[in-house]
Amino acid sequence: MQYVSTRGQAPVLNFEQAMLTGLARDGGLYLPETIPAMAPAEIGALAGLSYEEAAFRVMRPFIGDAFSDHALTAIIARAYRGFGHVVRAPLVQLGPNHFLLELFHGPTLAFKDFAMQLIGQLFQAALERSGERVTIVGATSGDTGSAAIEAFRGLDNVDVFILFPQGRVSEVQRRQMTTPTEGNVHALAVDGDFDDCQAAVKDMFNDFAFRDSVGLAGVNSINWARVLAQVVYYFTSAVSLGAPGRVVDFTVPTGNFGDIFAGYIARRMGLPIGQLVVATNQNDILHRALTTGGYVKQGVVPSISPSMDIQVSSNFERALFEAYGRDGNAVAQLMDDLKTQGGFHISQGAMEKLAETFVSGRASEEETSATIRAVHAATGEILCPHSAVGVKVAEAHQRGPVPMITLATAHPAKFPDAVETATGLRPPLPGRMADLYDRAERVTRIANDVGAIEALIKERRRA
Ligand SMILES: *Cc1c(COP(=O)(O)O)cnc(C)c1O
Repeated sequence: MQYVSTRGQAPVLNFEQAMLTGLARDGGLYLPETIPAMAPAEIGALAGLSYEEAAFRVMRPFIGDAFSDHALTAIIARAYRGFGHVVRAPLVQLGPNHFLLELFHGPTLAFKDFAMQLIGQLFQAALERSGERVTIVGATSGDTGSAAIEAFRGLDNVDVFILFPQGRVSEVQRRQMTTPTEGNVHALAVDGDFDDCQAAVKDMFNDFAFRDSVGLAGVNSINWARVLAQVVYYFTSAVSLGAPGRVVDFTVPTGNFGDIFAGYIARRMGLPIGQLVVATNQNDILHRALTTGGYVKQGVVPSISPSMDIQVSSNFERALFEAYGRDGNAVAQLMDDLKTQGGFHISQGAMEKLAETFVSGRASEEETSATIRAVHAATGEILCPHSAVGVKVAEAHQRGPVPMITLATAHPAKFPDAVETATGLRPPLPGRMADLYDRAERVTRIANDVGAIEALIKERRRA
């Protein structure tokens, strides 16, 4: 299996190379050259398998000969053994034909663990084999960073630097990043917002001298291996509701478009997904783009669902590449317009392509809070604010008998203030991390300045 860049100019790579590289050298994102299909019988055969067995079958064709069957089986087993739920991604019913896919039973209580725990094991296996070292640099609005630190802490061949926007992550998120004691972990609080952090990471990847001198590797959701890991739970959940014999819809609380793009891949592989509903909070660039064709940056307004406070949605580039018939030059032009003019217009043809799969909606702060309260009153289920954005938007897009699966992206205890404001209840952390508030923190505050960040990384990384 070969991987191509969305901007058409970077070398074609195999799975392992694409995973270790993250961002392509032409600034684009990697995608498989062709998307493997699963026949209905193969999809049906996933019913009743463990999550790990299903993950093996769904991911295997994308990985090619980068890992043997035996190695991949062991990697998947190690990735998910730290989860606090035996089925990994349980489905609960919220109402008639509306289901919630709980993706928050991993070690840092957000769906990011599904991808990050896997990628940590894949990196370790690949680097052990080659003897190379890498420096992982990632930007986070809260959950990616904690998941990455949890996945890479203590690994011999890896140093991890996580940039987060100072003052804009929840206390639980911050503590999950600042309390690990391993020397290869570095939490950097940047004076800026998430888009600043993400832009700094992109600049470091485009600084080839720096990139090569430290062996830079990326684990943001632009990393193809992360998207791939997330494809699996679309299959397991849809199959448990009757796929491939039954069409299902999904609603996905979206920021960087990674999680929902995994749903697009599942659909392309043959999973009968009717609609993929993009759910945004008040930072609604994706909803505006999908309804008007204009992808135009506005300032980020901090919300109670901070992991979706994003105005430059990196993985949307992959959807554009697909919608433009895999024309890398067209995508490069759009991304150039975004950089120089703050936006671009999506062509009529591409809008029609996007509309075959995606619809969208947004939830205001008040609607989000009211949804947490209403769902708790009706079902006893406590939603995190991101999942509540999903549920609110899903309700507006339910189509009669078609089951709707809304992705619950974080545990409510990760955002206790928003939940308490809505319900009066303060959700407790699961027992396995109940001492989080007592652990000592270690963090470096740094200016929003790429030069300063690069200098710090050079100084701190192990030789
Ligand atoms: C990262 C995150 C999202 C958004 O996911 P994307 O893949 O960036 O679209 C939504 N909810 C939570 C809790 C997250 O951590």
